[in-house]
Amino acid sequence: MITKKWMVSCFAFMLAMVFVLSGCGKTAQTGGGAASAPAGSPAASSAPSGTTAAGGGSALDEIKKRGKLVVGVKYDTKLFGLKNPTGGEVEGFDIDIAKALAKEILGDEKKIELKEVTSKTRIPMLDNKEIDMIIATMTITDERKKQVEFSDVYFKAGQSLLVKKGSPIKSIADIKKGTKVLAVKGSTSVINIKAKSPDATVLEFDNYQDAFSALKAGQGDTLTTDNAILYGMMAQDKNYEVVGEPFTDEPYGIAMKKGETALQGTVNEALKKLQSNGAYKKIYEKWIGQSPS
Ligand code: GLU
Repeated sequence: MITKKWMVSCFAFMLAMVFVLSGCGKTAQTGGGAASAPAGSPAASSAPSGTTAAGGGSALDEIKKRGKLVVGVKYDTKLFGLKNPTGGEVEGFDIDIAKALAKEILGDEKKIELKEVTSKTRIPMLDNKEIDMIIATMTITDERKKQVEFSDVYFKAGQSLLVKKGSPIKSIADIKKGTKVLAVKGSTSVINIKAKSPDATVLEFDNYQDAFSALKAGQGDTLTTDNAILYGMMAQDKNYEVVGEPFTDEPYGIAMKKGETALQGTVNEALKKLQSNGAYKKIYEKWIGQSPS
């Protein structure tokens, strides 16, 4: 599925990974659970457990009691979380990380339920307690840290551009007034491109498959998001390529509800274990290519 050529083109990207797992990519954690969202919102009745989390540590207790981890993942993002149209399974790097966490926390990777999130719905679904955590190509940002607890960095990407081969756009410098840039609602990609190319016309879609379809239909000049996601699109259609150097840092973290610091600690311990026991390396090689370690 992933060709040698593709792997070579990802070389610089993969080099960056070395820093992630060696600790250089670690991001400071948010401090204790001072700012828990108020419990008892109307949506709390849709919680996977049917009970209301009361504060620090309760989500972890609830997961253990329930015996199942409910994880919000992408269904539209090849390599990270993509619903297979034939078999119906959801597959990718984030999915395998989710299963490995279920194994660490509950002793069985099958003790998991996956629910679809998009970039826009993922934090509201966490707040509504429809999911215990988000593992969905989600960048750790200061703004988002006000809303959720993040794990340590588990993957490092950078924003880039996807174009049809032969496009005059070769890098972000080629985005001019009137250039139509396609992106997905609720992503850092939208915020970043508006900041870096304020003259561009940004068209926002609900998910990555819709954005890619729009690019293929000629509705835009380029699609922008994390290079890791764009490589997945390249693998879906060889007429498209990633151009230019990444122009942002997008360190991915697992997001948990604000204040759930016990769960956050458990997830970080589990991630460390996956790195030391070789499970992370296997997942990395399966979906991305040559392992960073
Ligand atoms: N990593 C970026 C973000 O969290 C872009 C990918 C996505 O939309 O999930 O917004």
